[in-house]
Amino acid sequence: MPVATSQPATLTRQDRCDRCGAQAFVRATLPGDGLSLLFCGHHFRAHELALVAAGAEILDERHRLHEQVSTPEA
Ligand SMILES: [Zn+2]
Repeated sequence: MPVATSQPATLTRQDRCDRCGAQAFVRATLPGDGLSLLFCGHHFRAHELALVAAGAEILDERHRLHEQVSTPEA
């Protein structure tokens, strides 16, 4: 799917944790193959050290966690 906007990449409601299926708030892009992994806040904490050690690029949007309780469905 081509990227059609110039906005910085952000996670959406459709992005789900690869581990548990909860809404993802962190994306880790691994160096080399560019593989992206999605994590909820809980699972990112569980894997954060390993991801950083692997040199992954971390997109951390956990500051948006509070939005899911106050944002109405579009
Ligand atoms: Zn999870």
